[in-house]
Amino acid sequence: MGKILLRNIVNEGVESDILIDGNVIAGIFPAGSAECTDSADLEAVDCKGKRAFPGFVNMHTHAAMSMMRGVGEDIAFHEWLTRIWELESGIDDEYVYHATKVACLEMIKTGTTTFNDHYWRLPMAYKAASEMGLRAVLAYVICDRNEPEESERQKKQCLEVYEKTQEWTGPFTFAVAVHAIYSVSEEMILWAVKFARERNLRIHIHLSETQKEVDDCMAKHGMSPVEYLDSLGALGPDVIAAHTLWLSDRDVEILGKRGVTCVHNINSNLKLASGYRFRYNELRDAGANVCLGTDGCASSNNLDMLETMKTSVMIQKAWRGDPSAMPLNEIIDIATVNAGKGLGLNIGKIEVGALADILIVDTDSYSFLSPGSFEANLVYSAHSDCIDSMICDGKFVMRNRVVPGEKEILAEARKTAEKLPSRA
Ligand SMILES: [Zn+2]
Repeated sequence: MGKILLRNIVNEGVESDILIDGNVIAGIFPAGSAECTDSADLEAVDCKGKRAFPGFVNMHTHAAMSMMRGVGEDIAFHEWLTRIWELESGIDDEYVYHATKVACLEMIKTGTTTFNDHYWRLPMAYKAASEMGLRAVLAYVICDRNEPEESERQKKQCLEVYEKTQEWTGPFTFAVAVHAIYSVSEEMILWAVKFARERNLRIHIHLSETQKEVDDCMAKHGMSPVEYLDSLGALGPDVIAAHTLWLSDRDVEILGKRGVTCVHNINSNLKLASGYRFRYNELRDAGANVCLGTDGCASSNNLDMLETMKTSVMIQKAWRGDPSAMPLNEIIDIATVNAGKGLGLNIGKIEVGALADILIVDTDSYSFLSPGSFEANLVYSAHSDCIDSMICDGKFVMRNRVVPGEKEILAEARKTAEKLPSRA
């Protein structure tokens, strides 16, 4: 791999030269002082007037739902989920491949360099993400719905897929997803956790997303979903729990003590009317690692992390009646560096030695024309079209808003989408 030198780019307020060697940030120098010259293996790019920012990490996606936007509007969570499962029974490899490419295209355009995915037909997601150049954590989904035959089939398939991942090249990590406590048998939860821990893999689960999930769990087990998983020994710093929206004080304490990564997905929660009182301050203070996700496009309708950041902050401030809740520096960490911690990857920051996932932000617009800080304008004022270029794993995946092959990706995906039954 070659080298890239981003010249005259503003990084943390200082005009700098950032040197990328292979897939790592190799040096950050005052502008004009990098001792590198253009050569066959070094590309120098003048970024005068632009800002560097770490790529966003979307910690909870179902990427291939990118072609299921608007299919379940204005209905309740469980009705919505039934509709989605019906729809998913009709998809195939080709669908997942093209839909994941569309998702990656959107993520690139909106500044996400890494996504933590939870979807069926994982080899297709791998193929799509590899071609698009994004970093991904791809989880095999366990969802046996309490059917023993299905459990056995999934155990076998999970192992087969895992073995195949040993041949993966590029910035990809395999994980195990447990769909949720209401859709996976206890035996299978225990199997999945053991399988993951024996191989040092992350465990990705939907947890305490709705009040109904909590009520049903209390009725069935006499415990909350968090207490139930903890009683199985399932919670730890290797667990990435999406939603964690309906939490008791005891739940917060457990999630903190176990060092669980809790992923807030505000847009999905708002739209499905699952709730909005995410206990950010309490989780943070208890020691949980809070991150951010969009969830799939069937519930959030887009994968835009800047929109998600802004909405998360607004709702925290509003429901707490506290304008200091979820401050700017914290929401930026939540969308970047905390995710690196949760995934065990050196991402989400621009520093020497970190993986080179960098956004080049164009500030030449009305959104940034103010004495306010760049970060405030980025999160609260700008839209993702300010992201001019993106480097992921040391390679340009977008330059000047152009993603190679964009038209073809959309055209191919459109053909696949048209083959699906009506999604109205
Ligand atoms: Zn989800």
